[in-house]
Amino acid sequence: DKPNQKILITGGAGFIGSHVVKRFVLKYPNYKIYNIDALTYAGNLENLKDIESLPNYTFIKGDIVNENFIFNLFDTHKFDSIIHLAAESHVDRSINEPLAFVKTNVIGTLNLLQAAKKIWKRNYINKRFYHISTDEVFGSLVNNNDFFTEETNYDPSSPYSASKASSDHFVRAYGKTYDLPYVISNCSNNYGPNQFPEKLIPLFINNIIQNKPLPVYGDGNYTRDWLYVIDHALAIDLVFHKGKIHETYNIGGFNEWKNIDLVKLLCDLIDQKLNREKGNSKKLITYVKDRPGHDLRYAIDANKIYKELGWKPSVTFEEGLEKTIDWFLENKEWLQNVTSGSYREYYQKQYL
Ligand code: NAD
Repeated sequence: DKPNQKILITGGAGFIGSHVVKRFVLKYPNYKIYNIDALTYAGNLENLKDIESLPNYTFIKGDIVNENFIFNLFDTHKFDSIIHLAAESHVDRSINEPLAFVKTNVIGTLNLLQAAKKIWKRNYINKRFYHISTDEVFGSLVNNNDFFTEETNYDPSSPYSASKASSDHFVRAYGKTYDLPYVISNCSNNYGPNQFPEKLIPLFINNIIQNKPLPVYGDGNYTRDWLYVIDHALAIDLVFHKGKIHETYNIGGFNEWKNIDLVKLLCDLIDQKLNREKGNSKKLITYVKDRPGHDLRYAIDANKIYKELGWKPSVTFEEGLEKTIDWFLENKEWLQNVTSGSYREYYQKQYL
């Protein structure tokens, strides 16, 4: 229903973006996919080597904070749609350097909105600005029976979630003020292949494999709702094609885990896989000083996307974890490349 369109995907060299780019390039040969990425520490073109030479794919290195670059890019390519994933995405880093988050997540998003508004000139037929966001904008849930719905008020706790909340507000304001045809989705925590090892699941998988301490924040009772990244990419495909303009969709797997239970599950799965004695890796668990402003619980009510768009996760949590563990075991070189240099300094500062 969207023939031959030119789609700009931002942040396509990152974790989720790389899965979205791959899916779109392979599934829609008639679309022309442009991946714009600044290749920060989190961006890695290795993630896209399977598709890099396909004729419907173009990579351009560039920073969404650079207004001239973005305006020239839109003037040259006259994109029909944007799927915007580029962001600074790690909460702990946002606590140390909030301004970098405002620049990319807020100003960068604004540059894209301005450029889209300028080239589309209010002719919005077959045009779409799809903004990818997070459940962290809603803050923390207190009661066990509560879930985040699309109507939940925003109440961000970290500079990361505040910057994402701000960008969501700008996108909606462009809808109200200029009729810009946007859709937004707010997704729960993702895990899977290509995830940078600073994030919880890959951090623990890799430390367990290497017999290194497992730093668990606070008492380990923080609760998150986990979704396999391929299922997020599937949801993004559906929202992009079938989501209603000016609507928001929450995406989550109804899959809540306390961090400490998740770490223990990973220990058991990996001990089994590597033929280690049962209980071996749990000895690596060490509790470390809590993250300031740490939200206790996130849980998504994903009924709208289930019912209206017919989405549901394709794998169980155990299946997704198994695939993820296998991927990290098979891609040790990828891991070595991304964790050399500056990541080591970051890790020492954060946990040691
Ligand atoms: P990531 O950190 O792995 O990737 C971000 C990508 O954006 C990287 O390739 C990086 O190089 C690029 N980038 C950063 N700053 C840029 C800039 N100024 N200009 C151009 N490119 C830039 O992040 P991710 O986990 O893949 O998250 C992608 C999006 O999904 C983000 O918007 C994030 O808020 C959202 N999200 C993530 C999760 C999650 O669990 N990871 C959950 C819900 C929503």
